[in-house]
Amino acid sequence: MVKDQIIAIFTIMIDIHHKHPLKDLNSFSLDTRASSYAKPENLQALCEVLAYPDHKEMPLLVLGEGSNILFREDFDGLVLQPGMKGIEVVEEKGNELVVKVGASENWDSWVAHAIEKGWYGLENLSLIPGSVGSAPVQNIGAYGVELKDRFEWVEAWDLHEKQLVRLDHKACAFGYRSSIFKGEEKGRYIITHVAFRLNSKPDLQLDYGMVKKEFTKAKGSTPQDLRKVIIAIRSAKLPDPEQYGNAGSFFKNPLVDRTIFSCIRVEYPDVPFYPDAGNQMKIPAAWLIEKSGWKGKRIGNVGTWPSQPLVLVNYDGATGQEIYDFSQKILEDVDRIFGVILEREVNVI
Ligand SMILES: Cc1cc2nc3c(=O)[nH]c(=O)nc-3n(C[C@H](O)[C@H](O)[C@H](O)COP(=O)(O)OP(=O)(O)OC[C@H]3O[C@@H](n4cnc5c(N)ncnc54)[C@H](O)[C@@H]3O)c2cc1C
Repeated sequence: MVKDQIIAIFTIMIDIHHKHPLKDLNSFSLDTRASSYAKPENLQALCEVLAYPDHKEMPLLVLGEGSNILFREDFDGLVLQPGMKGIEVVEEKGNELVVKVGASENWDSWVAHAIEKGWYGLENLSLIPGSVGSAPVQNIGAYGVELKDRFEWVEAWDLHEKQLVRLDHKACAFGYRSSIFKGEEKGRYIITHVAFRLNSKPDLQLDYGMVKKEFTKAKGSTPQDLRKVIIAIRSAKLPDPEQYGNAGSFFKNPLVDRTIFSCIRVEYPDVPFYPDAGNQMKIPAAWLIEKSGWKGKRIGNVGTWPSQPLVLVNYDGATGQEIYDFSQKILEDVDRIFGVILEREVNVI
């Protein structure tokens, strides 16, 4: 970082970086920049960064570890990365405990730490990239467990009311890869801490997909064993962003009307599905993408991952716009062939 790009403001030192490179701050490794960047480590510093005169009228992007973001171009505004750390037990009763974790703790390191301490419930969410503070935003989920199953509350800076608030489960309105933070209140809150309700007695969740089979094969019996199995399954299936830039699942699994589903089933009797509440069925987006001819397809430096077409990969030096255009072509083909409109899970900037 060039010295003259760092400005110290107010009474405590906060680095505000101008034209800050984002390449190492997004898992697609897109070579973009932010007009302004700061990583405040506590609430006071956060308020001071927001109050900095240049920032008052600037667009704001709260960034975790950038593993669910697609930068189509430079961000002409302030990128703020909450830097709050810490893991603290705030309540203990019988087998249950509530643990408060700082937004900037790495998600998988936190999961590993919890299991080591004998605080159980997050094993199936092992190896999901990103920070703790972003986890509630899309209610991260994997292998039959979602964040909401172990969530207690978040603390967040409310940009509308200019105060620190605590939001409980109900207030967050969690759904499939959604919450108020990604929906109706998008851009209103900066999450500083997340609290989890965990259990000192293991309650292994093995009923999803191949988990039970692999767990039995590995002669597993403990939460530590389950974590290892989940890590092995994920590592075999998904590209490592360190090697191939990606943001995990690019699209959500769509919920389709039962009448549309029946039409698809006439032509494709083997269509996989999960019944959802109400009049809708969930179809795996990966299946729709594969049947539309996009599995393993590559255009220039962008492609779908050969063993998981739901993952779009930056093979080498692609731009965010190229990845976006590639995703648009998939969207159009799936719509044309199946009459199903896919929704992007990744946050497009
Ligand atoms: C290889 C790979 C596998 C993945 N597998 C899964 C999976 O199994 N399940 C799953 O659910 N996801 C998965 N993801 C997606 C990603 O890991 C999650 O969405 C994760 O929570 C993103 O964390 P992050 O810190 O990188 O968030 P970012 O990408 O930095 O941000 C994501 C969104 O959250 C907002 N945000 C970030 N921090 C805060 C905050 N403190 N306060 C308010 N808003 C904030 C951002 O503005 C943005 O809109 C995968 C990604 C990759 C690369």
